[in-house]
Amino acid sequence: MISIQGIPVSPGIAIGKALVLHREDLVVPNRLIGDEQIPQEIAKFEDGLTKTRAEILGIRRKISQELGREHSDIFNAHLLILEDRTLIEDVILKVKEDKVNTEYAFSQVIQRYFQAFSKIDDEYLRERIADIKDISRRILQNLMGETRDILGKLKEPVIVIAHDLSPSDTAVMARDKVLGFATDVGGPTSHTAIMARSLEIPAIVGLDRISKDVVPGDVVILDGNHGLIVVNPDPETIERYRLDEKKFIEINRELSKLKDFKAETLDGHAVKLVANIEFPTEIPSVLAHGADGIGLYRTEYFYLNRNDLPSEEEQFEAYKSVAERMNPYPVVVRTLDLGGDKFLSSLELPYEMNPFLGWRAIRFCLTRVDIFKTQMRAILRASKYGNLKIMYPLIANVQELRQANQLLEECRQELRSDGTAFDEKMEVGVMIEIPSAALTSDILAKEVDFFSIGTNDLIQYSLAIDRVNEKIAYLYEPTHPAILKLIKTVVQNGHANGIWVGTCGEMSGDPILAILLVGLGIDGISTSPLILPKVKKAIRAVTYEQAKELAETAFRFSTGEEIRHFLDERIREAVPELIEE
Ligand code: PEP
Ligand code: MG
Repeated sequence: MISIQGIPVSPGIAIGKALVLHREDLVVPNRLIGDEQIPQEIAKFEDGLTKTRAEILGIRRKISQELGREHSDIFNAHLLILEDRTLIEDVILKVKEDKVNTEYAFSQVIQRYFQAFSKIDDEYLRERIADIKDISRRILQNLMGETRDILGKLKEPVIVIAHDLSPSDTAVMARDKVLGFATDVGGPTSHTAIMARSLEIPAIVGLDRISKDVVPGDVVILDGNHGLIVVNPDPETIERYRLDEKKFIEINRELSKLKDFKAETLDGHAVKLVANIEFPTEIPSVLAHGADGIGLYRTEYFYLNRNDLPSEEEQFEAYKSVAERMNPYPVVVRTLDLGGDKFLSSLELPYEMNPFLGWRAIRFCLTRVDIFKTQMRAILRASKYGNLKIMYPLIANVQELRQANQLLEECRQELRSDGTAFDEKMEVGVMIEIPSAALTSDILAKEVDFFSIGTNDLIQYSLAIDRVNEKIAYLYEPTHPAILKLIKTVVQNGHANGIWVGTCGEMSGDPILAILLVGLGIDGISTSPLILPKVKKAIRAVTYEQAKELAETAFRFSTGEEIRHFLDERIREAVPELIEE
């Protein structure tokens, strides 16, 4: 029995058999073969193609049923590549002439295709490289006996162990069969971690070597509350964790009783407690957990797992449905935040050395105005059906805000001249995620209706900590005095200009930090629906005076660690069960 410590990112306890996925970057073996092996290698290639074809047809069917035809059509391009006679004959010829194994022959031929396509002076054809890459990886995995589609086709419950899982991997997971997942890499605010919470699957990241230390079939305990993996536990340990699991379920059952209670302090100071969502399918969970609205609707997932862009109509239908189902509660729709650790399959984006500092979010949208305006028109049109607000991510200066607002105004004009109705008073806000925005929030506040502090990025950019790098995750400190100062500045500037200030980063999901945020004057907290009842309990356990005093005293300490310790101790005295839970 061994225990491995990682970073807990989604709560809950899971006990089950491990399914170990191998790394994406396949090392293709290069072997010389004898004449007598040629027919065998060719047969292997043909089998690999048949298997891949069957897989693609299966995925296409599943995606079409679950997400609609538009999403499944991308696989038609994959099927075409699979049937490309020239490609097939080139591979067979290489096996015969160079006398090499199939996988190697295939990888060499496909390289030539990549090179040829990247030189073509036609954007559409160049973009097909993504299809070729995707399908060739799948073919290679099949030739080498590796596959990731397994995630969508699980027959029995498993705990998924992998070097890494991309947001698109997690999106196709058979949710009822995945008990939990654990990865070597990743930080608490990586989008894979965020996805785990939204799928309500216990998860741990940053385990370093877990994909090497666990072998398929090992029994694993995944403690998503403490970030601990126990491999091949003895019966007593399993028994102990089963009890913990029961306790966890019991605590959640108790918390769910808070659903209809207000999110307010003991002395009646109300806080808007709202939810972060990635998919419209999460709305029942949002309502079940007692949220007063949606404070962050991340729209990127619309654009993932497909090879085309979502149309205005398709987006309108989705936003309209969210607006209607949440009405009269507010829904803050964040415009596309592509880049960083979220990449779209439909766009072949240039490789960047520092993607989090690169062509991301609003920067991308202000240059791909076509994509941006399509989304904003859809949001505006949907605004008529509920209480929608629009929010721009990663604003660094007021010029970006003005440019975005100018494009939004163009969309409004277009809709007015078409006679299309929309909410003329829809609020417009910005995310405060970059220190420059926090420090100039007095300027920004004069031109928006609200601020939402994205602490995931604000911490990343203020402390220079890559949010997905597990090696430096220990430096990722929400209680760093610099972060507290920035939040305080934003709240003061917002309030001085008469606008509300919320937070929507993962920091607000920590009940103790939520009390700190309330003490700093935050008006609204948006967090994963799963965690929301715990945050509500924390807010209801203190007075506003206590929270303010806590926040003020926190400024007397010099380090994030001291502040964290101070908060834990003070809350332990005042509300011990918050710490115990
Ligand atoms: C944030 O940065 O805090 C945030 C909520 O946005 P995202 O996690 O999607 O970057
Ligand atoms: Mg962000």
